Amino acid sequence: MLSTHPAGVQSGRQFLPKVTDASPNQELLPLTARINSSDRLEIGGCDVTTLVEQFGSPLYILDEDTLRNACCQYREAFKKYYPGESQVLYASKAWSCLAVCAIASQEGLGIDVVSGGELYTALQAGVSPDKLYLHGNNKSLEELKLAINSGCTIVVDNWHELRTLGHWSSVIGNSDTNDPVRIMLRLTPGIECHTHEYIRTGHLDSKFGFDPNQLDEVFAFVSQHSALNCVGLHAHIGSQIFEQQPHQDLAGVMVQWLDKASSYGLQMQELNVGGGLGIRYTEADDPPSIEAWVKGVCTAIQNACVTQQIALPKLLCEPGRSLIGSACVTAYTVGSSKTVPGIRTYIAIDGGMSDNPRPITYQSVYRAVVANKMSAPATQTVTIAGKHCESGDILIKEATLPPSEPGDILVVLATGAYNYSMASNYNRLARPAAVVVKAGEANVILRRETYQDLMRQDCLPARLSSET
Ligand SMILES: *Cc1c(COP(=O)(O)O)cnc(C)c1O
Repeated sequence: MLSTHPAGVQSGRQFLPKVTDASPNQELLPLTARINSSDRLEIGGCDVTTLVEQFGSPLYILDEDTLRNACCQYREAFKKYYPGESQVLYASKAWSCLAVCAIASQEGLGIDVVSGGELYTALQAGVSPDKLYLHGNNKSLEELKLAINSGCTIVVDNWHELRTLGHWSSVIGNSDTNDPVRIMLRLTPGIECHTHEYIRTGHLDSKFGFDPNQLDEVFAFVSQHSALNCVGLHAHIGSQIFEQQPHQDLAGVMVQWLDKASSYGLQMQELNVGGGLGIRYTEADDPPSIEAWVKGVCTAIQNACVTQQIALPKLLCEPGRSLIGSACVTAYTVGSSKTVPGIRTYIAIDGGMSDNPRPITYQSVYRAVVANKMSAPATQTVTIAGKHCESGDILIKEATLPPSEPGDILVVLATGAYNYSMASNYNRLARPAAVVVKAGEANVILRRETYQDLMRQDCLPARLSSET
């Protein structure tokens, strides 16, 4: 039954970071994870079991040091390997909330947003509009207006949007300054990555971005609309990528596009190579470090610019998962269990697909530890089940854990990306609270929802009310 753990599981100890200068995306636990004298897991100097007593269960626990460390590694790697200007953006769809945007911004990162809601959140967090980029393949007029009025850059995805902006910006411009609207163009590069396959084609079936075969028409259109200030090009090739070659190929392709733009008199100075660097969810995952990834991209861009004989552009990238994924864990309380003889034992926890929809959506695999039994031998393989009315609500199919009992604190690792941001209220479960921990202090960054919160949007028309 231990077949999914070729290295053999001893205890929760084995998931602790082994070196202090690790790249967060290569670790299963946050960088500050320790085991204290009570054999309990500590993150950011806080005892996880105590946090659950204080803040309730389930609980998202975000380690500030790990998030800042990942931001810093991206930022410093660009300084080290790229002689031109650079800007790292946090892809906030991974987890958009005030505190996370504020931390990323304090670390010098800009923010990429994909909706009016994410844009509003970043603005409320105090992020400077000149470091905000709005994505989306079907932005509403309202979203475009918010972007223009706030002065953020719009990453134009398609002809409909380009024509709308071309027409409309010439009428209103930026209402405060009358400046042209700052845009970038998103292109579909014909390079696509699903975690373990890498496809390079001339033509790609994707709902995002302009077809590169239409570059001439697109550049001609942009060059005829002076109310559009097109500052650069963007592409994003996928997520949870472990190979370096796709982004290096992308760099070469994008520099060629940049060169073509200049033949239309377009002075574009920015290239955004997107996000996508993977993280370690299990021992089997082996992503490159943040530094190695940045180095590969920077080298490829510089080589392509030499070949193409053009000046170095301002280089942007927009990681989401690799910035925040490993910085957070989710703590649950163990409740009921059920053994199906000869088949498996289910251990149920007090959350599930509503707080982490990735396993049911993508068959994503996670690892877990028992926070109050970190050194206990992991001798059992069990299935961790959520509490939703859905047979598929299984968080971990095969978790190797010490024998556990009701009241144990089960901690699922690397839940910072696409967990809270994809959370739902399915079965009318309230969304859990999230705390940020640092140096022994824990602060709430997202309050636990209450039954009143769940009812916030409910309306009961008078004719349906029983009290007449
Ligand atoms: C999702 C996305 C990202 C971030 O992807 P990660 O895999 O989380 O790094 C960046 N840019 C765009 C356009 C995206 O859609």
